[in-house]
Amino acid sequence: MRGAHTAAMQCAIGYRLSAIGYRLLHISEEDTRMAIFDRSRQLVSAAARRIPGGVNSNYRLGIAPTPLVFERAEGACLYDVDGNQLIDYYLGMGSMILGHSPAALVVAVTEQLQRGILFAGQSEVEFEAARLVCSLVPCAEMVRFGCSGSEMVHAALRLARATTGRSTVIKFEGHYHGWFDNILWSVTPPLEQAGPEAAPVPLPDSAGMDLVTGEHLAVLPWNNLALLEERLARGDVAAVIMEPAMCNTSAIIPADGYLAGALAACRAHGAVLIFDEVITGFRVAPGGAQQRLGVTPDLAIFGKAIANGFPVACLAGRADLMEQFASRKIMHGGTYNAQPVAMAATVATLNALADGQVHAALERSGQRLMHGIAAALSEADLVVQIQGFPQIFHVALGVSAPITDYRSSLAANRARYIQLTVGLLQRGVRALERGAWFLSAAHTDALIDETVAAVAATAKTLAYDKVAQ
Ligand code: PMP
Repeated sequence: MRGAHTAAMQCAIGYRLSAIGYRLLHISEEDTRMAIFDRSRQLVSAAARRIPGGVNSNYRLGIAPTPLVFERAEGACLYDVDGNQLIDYYLGMGSMILGHSPAALVVAVTEQLQRGILFAGQSEVEFEAARLVCSLVPCAEMVRFGCSGSEMVHAALRLARATTGRSTVIKFEGHYHGWFDNILWSVTPPLEQAGPEAAPVPLPDSAGMDLVTGEHLAVLPWNNLALLEERLARGDVAAVIMEPAMCNTSAIIPADGYLAGALAACRAHGAVLIFDEVITGFRVAPGGAQQRLGVTPDLAIFGKAIANGFPVACLAGRADLMEQFASRKIMHGGTYNAQPVAMAATVATLNALADGQVHAALERSGQRLMHGIAAALSEADLVVQIQGFPQIFHVALGVSAPITDYRSSLAANRARYIQLTVGLLQRGVRALERGAWFLSAAHTDALIDETVAAVAATAKTLAYDKVAQ
């Protein structure tokens, strides 16, 4: 088994080691030297005096063995304050499709910084970003930019309600569309409170939400066309919002015909179909899941990979709907919308993704990683289900059948999976606790092989207790 020092060399190309130097992780059976995270732990606990939990997003709370503190990132790797180098599969929660700090993007952003940071007016760089989005995304006749997926979801729902004159929005169990009150419902509902499978009870995912907003939501199980058609037939639905491939719970490609059926049913009953492509957008294909899966919605939200780590999101869609923002009847605003530096990052990123070559390369390297992980876990006699796209896939332990919706995802052994991610971290690989794996153009075959070796080494330590899978 090759040591992670090989990874260290690859990630460190063009970089001089800092004064403290980075710990080289050896992961051979003979020489196992586990990473430690003491300094991160100390810093986060000290920071918790001023920042609740020591983190600025609740999704960073409580990650085992401790939330990490990073010094820098480059290519496929992160470097933390304990001197560890980690092959990164968080990738800014899916944002860094080109890897950390790609040269062309750094140049574009630096040049824009020198020209100006914020104009409270228009700039040609945002017009170019809009042109690129419209040229790549099938549904994008027009586009509005914002800074986060949550706020652009908010804009989409407002637009759909305003243009249909209806209030009800259909969302699906396990789909996440940001943290705002009117949509943070039934994302991770406890089964004992969630009601019957065919008629879930909408459940808020946070204390303090305005519960009245839930009255305008209908929650359904995803991937079940008959139930969606039945609900739409009541004729009161403004919009159906979904992740076109469900990537916040597992990574689920919809059943054959589901997306096309959903579109047809929305058309038949006057509802707006919204794809939330914050994860899939620009990641699974240059035009997102709608391009890859061949179904064009009315509206779609993009974020994350659109600007490779800069805070950019957008709402794109049918011109007759989008134009309503210019009527002044429907409000959408924001001080930082289309901030020129972030727009320069958007242009640089979309130019790098436009010809599909990055996606083709990720298709191949992602399959290498998926197959490698599957083989390493099976070799250790662990039951594993890997599904999704090579660019974003999901690994579940203790499940042998495909996961098709939120409730079937609950069969996975989450506690065992977290043990796996802790073991991986100790061996120099950072993967999400919830089972998702994001890939970037900077992940070379050698780094992928290092990762698979770390999975194999960790799997051996988990295999002792198969009964508990
Ligand atoms: N929609 C989806 C599908 C997401 O995955 C996310 C974030 N993970 C959001 C919306 C919210 O985006 P943001 O965190 O930028 O507000």
